[in-house]
Amino acid sequence: MASHHEVIIIGGGPAGYTAAIYAARANLKPLVIEGFARGGQLMLTTDVENYPGFPSGISGPDMMNAFRDQAERFGAILVSANATRVDLSGRPFGVWVDEEEYRGEALIVATGADARWLGIESETRFRGRGVSSCATCDGFFFRDKPMVVVGGGDTAMEEALFLSRIGSHVTIVHRRDTFRASRIMAERVRANEKISVRWNAVVEEVLGEETVSGVRVRDVVTGETEDIPAAAMFVAIGHTPNTELVAGQLELDADGYVVTQGTRTSVEGVFACGDVQDRVYRQAVTAAASGCMAAIDAERWLEARRSAATEGAPAGV
Ligand code: NDP
Repeated sequence: MASHHEVIIIGGGPAGYTAAIYAARANLKPLVIEGFARGGQLMLTTDVENYPGFPSGISGPDMMNAFRDQAERFGAILVSANATRVDLSGRPFGVWVDEEEYRGEALIVATGADARWLGIESETRFRGRGVSSCATCDGFFFRDKPMVVVGGGDTAMEEALFLSRIGSHVTIVHRRDTFRASRIMAERVRANEKISVRWNAVVEEVLGEETVSGVRVRDVVTGETEDIPAAAMFVAIGHTPNTELVAGQLELDADGYVVTQGTRTSVEGVFACGDVQDRVYRQAVTAAASGCMAAIDAERWLEARRSAATEGAPAGV
C-alpha cells in the first residue's frame, strides 16, 4: 500500500529543507525524501561565510543539520534514502524508493546539481583544503594569494574576475586556445591585469603537502609540463543538474535543468526549486529562497484545488 501525502519533497539540500519548513508550518506534513547523501553540495564545503545571520560563519554540514532539524521540528517526515523513480503522469504523483511507494498531491523537486570535477586523485585529496568549485564560497580564504581557475566558460570567467579582487593573481587554465565564454566576459578577463591565461593546458596534478602549493599543468600541444604556484584551485568546468529522475516527464532545457516559471514546472502540481532549476546563482541563500517559494506555490495550488472541488461539489457535500 502506498502512503499518501499532501506534499512530497525530493531533495535534502537548502532548497528541499526550506520547502519542508514552510510546508510543515502550513500544516501540510510534507514527506521529504532527502537522499542518502543528505545536505547536498554544502556537505562538501568547509565554512559558509556568506549566509546572512552567521557573522562568524558556519560549517556547511552544521548548517544543513540545522536546516534539517528545523524541518523535523515542525513535522516534516524525513526519509533518508534516494528516490529511485517517479510517475508524474497523473495525480496523486507517484514516488518510489526502490519498492516503497509514496503518493503526493503536490511534488517539489529539489534534487540540486553537482559540480563537475576533473577526476584526478590529487583534486579529491585537496577538496575543501584548497580545491573548490565555488569562488564565491571559498575565495576569501585565499586573500592576497595566487590562485588557479580551470575552465573556459562563463563560470570560469566569473570566478576568475571575482577572485582577482581577492587574490594576488589568477591564472586561468583552459584546455583549448579559445574561450567558450561569452565575448563580454572574455573581454573583461583579458582586460584584467591580475588575470593571465594558460592556453592549451590541462591539470595533471594539484601540488602540496597539507595545503595546496601549486598546480602542475601539461601543454596539450607540446606535451611539456609546468608548475603554476597557487594556494587554491577552483574547478569551473560546469555543473550537472540531477534530473535523471524526472527526465522525459518534466520539460528540461538543453543542459538538463528543469524549466520553471517561478517555481512551476511543465506539469501542474509539480514545482522545482534550488540548483536543479538555477544555473546562474547557485547559492545556499538563493536555493533556500526558492525552496520557500516552491512551498508557498504548492500550498496555494493545493488550496485553490480544494476550493474548486468544494465549490464544484453538490450542496451538502
Ligand atoms: P560551460 O559548459 O559553458 O563551460 C565549461 C568549460 O569547462 C568549457 O570551457 C570546457 O572546455 C571546460 N571543461 C569541461 N570539461 C572539462 C574538463 N574535463 N577538463 C578541462 N576543462 C573542461 O559551463 P559554465 O559553468 O561555464 O556555464 C554553464 C552555463 O551557464 C552557460 O550557458 C553559461 O553561459 C551560463 N552562465 C552564465 C553566467 C552569466 O551570464 N553571468 C555565469 C555563469 C554561467 P571547452 O570549452 O573546451 O569545452
